[in-house]
Amino acid sequence: MMPERLFAGIDVGGTHLRLGLVTENGELARDAIFPSSSISDTNGSTPARILKYIQLFLGQEIANIVAMCIGFPSVISKDRRIIVQTPNIAGLDNIPFAEMAEKEFSFPVFIEKDVNLLLIHDVATYNLSTKDPILGFYIGTGIGNAIMLNGDIMIGASGSAGELGHVPILGNKIACPCGNIGCVETIASGKALVNYKSTYPNMLIDDFFTQHSQDEFVKHFIELLAITISTEMNIFDPAVAILGGGVILMKDFPREWLISEIREHLRYPYPKNSVKFLFSEQTKNAGVFGAARWAKHLLERKQQSTI
Ligand SMILES: [Zn+2]
Repeated sequence: MMPERLFAGIDVGGTHLRLGLVTENGELARDAIFPSSSISDTNGSTPARILKYIQLFLGQEIANIVAMCIGFPSVISKDRRIIVQTPNIAGLDNIPFAEMAEKEFSFPVFIEKDVNLLLIHDVATYNLSTKDPILGFYIGTGIGNAIMLNGDIMIGASGSAGELGHVPILGNKIACPCGNIGCVETIASGKALVNYKSTYPNMLIDDFFTQHSQDEFVKHFIELLAITISTEMNIFDPAVAILGGGVILMKDFPREWLISEIREHLRYPYPKNSVKFLFSEQTKNAGVFGAARWAKHLLERKQQSTI
């Protein structure tokens, strides 16, 4: 019997490093998780540490792996070979990671921005047609955004398309870790929510929307998210908009309220009456599955281009 071909999907997040081996049929063969604190280092060893964890994880199955994709919460170069900038993990700026990894391993290694891999996973899970634009909005620490056009991820002229969280808001004077002032994700994101929640020191963050959905802060928060999301939807006229991320997955998050606020701002009659909203019910391994699926897709594309 031929050994099974496996795709490695790696998700480097601000809090966890997740690793998975996925079969040709998209089934998870094995996975592992480590805290990101164990990989992040200010002395320049972060890339080497990530590679070490990957190597240990792959173990003897390394011989069956045909391609790997690694998702980073980073700006990635247009050629998808270099990690340009990573605000939340030390030691991952200007790193030629794909090349470093391909020196270690004998199979192709791809890198991609994490939210793009989440959208790839959601599109596959919902079995969506990719003929028309699909937009993904993932509200976590920041506002993650992915744009899919003709089944491909839109990456822009320099690789950094989809930075929706960094749209400026008039009158907002808060400095953003990106270096600019007034970015929307300084006031409408998981980060902003955690800041506001600190005014209720005895409450668990999980109970926030259950107990405080009537607060002025929440009204403003939902409205800002709706304005931001509807702006991009009016530009792209997507067939489907997928809403996800840790904030939206929180207990009692007002999903219907957010959708009705977004619809308020959508252009009549389209996309107001045509767009379909879906929620991403992602499991913790969504980034791993998205990465493995993208590795398979890019490997096939690479093989076709060399025939
Ligand atoms: Zn910013």
